[in-house]
Amino acid sequence: MVKLWRTVQGTPVNRETSTNEEPTESRKLLGRLRDTLATDTEGQERLDHVTRIIAESMGVEVCSIYLFRDSDTLELCATEGLKAEAVHQTRMRMGEGLVGRVARTSRIINTPDAPSERGFRYMPETGEEIYSSFLGVPIQRLGETLGVLVVQSREARGFTEDEVYGMEVVAMVLAEMTELGAFVGEGAALAALHQRPAMFRGGSGQEGIAEGHVWLHEPRVVVTNPIADDPHQEARRLRAAVDELRVSVDELLATTQGADKDQLQVLEAYRMFANSKGWMRRMEEDIYRGLSAEAAVEKEQSSARSRMAQVPDPYLRERLHDLDDLSNRLLRILTGQGDDTGAEMPDDPILVAQNIGPGELLEYGRSLKGVVLEGGSVASHAAVVARALAIPLVVNASRITTEALNGDPIIVDGDQGIVHLRPEDSVRGAFRDKMAMQAEQQKRYVGLRDKSATSVDGTTVSLMMNAGLMADLPSLEGSGAEGVGLFRTELQFLTRANVPKRGELAALYSRVLDAAGGKRVVFRTLDIGSDKVLPYMKPTEEPNPALGWRAIRVGLDKPGVMRMQVQALIRAAAGRDLSVMFPFIAQFDEFSEAKAIFYRELEREKRMGHRLPATVEVGAMLETPSLAFAPRQFFEEADFISIGGNDLKQFFFAADRENERVRRRYDTLNTSFLNLIDMIVHRCAEARTPLSFCGEDAGRPVEAVCFAALGMQSLSMRPASVGPVKHLIRRTDLGELREVMDAARRSGLQSVREPVMDYLFRRET
Ligand code: PEP
Ligand code: MG
Repeated sequence: MVKLWRTVQGTPVNRETSTNEEPTESRKLLGRLRDTLATDTEGQERLDHVTRIIAESMGVEVCSIYLFRDSDTLELCATEGLKAEAVHQTRMRMGEGLVGRVARTSRIINTPDAPSERGFRYMPETGEEIYSSFLGVPIQRLGETLGVLVVQSREARGFTEDEVYGMEVVAMVLAEMTELGAFVGEGAALAALHQRPAMFRGGSGQEGIAEGHVWLHEPRVVVTNPIADDPHQEARRLRAAVDELRVSVDELLATTQGADKDQLQVLEAYRMFANSKGWMRRMEEDIYRGLSAEAAVEKEQSSARSRMAQVPDPYLRERLHDLDDLSNRLLRILTGQGDDTGAEMPDDPILVAQNIGPGELLEYGRSLKGVVLEGGSVASHAAVVARALAIPLVVNASRITTEALNGDPIIVDGDQGIVHLRPEDSVRGAFRDKMAMQAEQQKRYVGLRDKSATSVDGTTVSLMMNAGLMADLPSLEGSGAEGVGLFRTELQFLTRANVPKRGELAALYSRVLDAAGGKRVVFRTLDIGSDKVLPYMKPTEEPNPALGWRAIRVGLDKPGVMRMQVQALIRAAAGRDLSVMFPFIAQFDEFSEAKAIFYRELEREKRMGHRLPATVEVGAMLETPSLAFAPRQFFEEADFISIGGNDLKQFFFAADRENERVRRRYDTLNTSFLNLIDMIVHRCAEARTPLSFCGEDAGRPVEAVCFAALGMQSLSMRPASVGPVKHLIRRTDLGELREVMDAARRSGLQSVREPVMDYLFRRET
């Protein structure tokens, strides 16, 4: 890192045009700072020098630099004026004392009488009681607080607006230097940032563990020249770049006629910022204080980011986010870095992004080992694709894009929703052991591939797999699944700019059936709405989208797309077996209507002379508790029923499946939920209607054996789960397990998990 800083310093700087002008105080200071930083000295020495020249230039007795040594502790790293022994000894927690307050609030404190300030803390080892005035400025980079820059003087004076502003500019440069590793040296707090291990707790979007290296979807622009000598030239560069930016935004607006309201709103916001005089003026002021054009843009971006964290209004937060995006574009123009930073994708890439669209994620495809999103949600499009690709995904990993650099080692734990960036050896070792164990187990499961999932007491359960892409079909062979119990058809709709054509869909479904080689494939008709909004669908503002206009409700109200999809399915099957199921049926007549549409289309295809499927079965997904209580006739009329446990559970417990706070609160083996499943099993048995379960829980071995013990005949899961589930079923006496579960249910336990785990464990030992 130090090396990088030196090469940066080596870049030639244009000094011509500013010679005939008196440089401002802060420009003089920045000039001296740069000269100091260019010297071939150690990190600590540099830092000491920096404090000395800031103190001199500001005419104060004290200048100190505090940097974070971990996420919660600040350390005095250099000082001019306080006792030298205090360096690397004085520490404070976030929020503690005035320095800690500056760090916590990211706000400047400027006071002529520090000891009387709220929260002032006297630290005897620094000998600071004699200093009265205090100015503390956060050292920030892109909204991330790296430390605090402080000046103090004996004389009780408030610092002028101009001085405060000058210090902000200096703090900005210090942040850039810290980032570039200019102060790397002895002392933990001086370790270069973005080299320390960091852990992020998010939500689990897709299970699985992966180790690899960071690949940033939108790499950050690296500013290597924060200080510039010639403000006129920098201002000209900035103006030219902003002009280019304006043109590109106008072009974007012109070519996006007919775009949806949200998209237009974003572009209008871009245009507004690109033409904002205030934005331009602030950046120019920074330039005339000595910053380069890039650093000036980044300073604005940084303060917008810290504002973003404090603004409670979601609309304003969105607009600040737009400004952030726009700043990135401007930086790309200024540095000429474009989207391509020249970095090479690692062999084991783990994608790190703010958010990503399903199409973009599909483009990366299976080359990715894992995905970490700063935003996103468990049921977002990206999660749907990640699930289809079977790559571990962690969502809501706050600040990951600020922390991660291209090429950083990273571990994604999709099981726990945790990410380890630049992990310590011990963490890495533990994960490697876990992964090796899992790989070992998977090898054992291969031996089970052609065996049936028959329990010790002779019950055979049909194990199927879930799919959503053509690329999933090869897993049918490898996993040992008997067929595809759930083919999610929405991916082909989500990843295109327009509704796919009937011919295209028919060809794809036909290829899916070819690849399945005669094994059963259950196609689920389009399950959109809620958060799965098609790019070409007019978004509707709904207060509760999960309870809103979605899935079959859209299909019945606007049957055009559903009819087209049904036609494509019928044509694809031509002479083969066709299984279709409708999602999110909440009451009997929704199923009757959908089934009637299907048969009308079948008739029509017949009239048109198309070859019909050899056999047809039309089923319903049971995803709302109401359907479990439907009239007997519903259970008789459905050719089969599949429980969509992800949705059924969220509606049964009134707990959002995307909301991490509540979703883990309710156990699938909760007695009430099992009572509901039990009832559905009985109602299907009475009507002799085949029943399966295709939510994520079907792929969890303990849950799966419990469902089987309740009489579930078929389970559909991600391919990687087929082996583990089969393994446990084959070692379990389902009759005995049922007795354990029944006893636990009778005893009034809230969940049967503990006695079930006890029983399974006893059998294994
Ligand atoms: C479910 O809800 O359990 C299900 C399988 O459907 P999805 O996860 O696609 O909503
Ligand atoms: Mg569902």
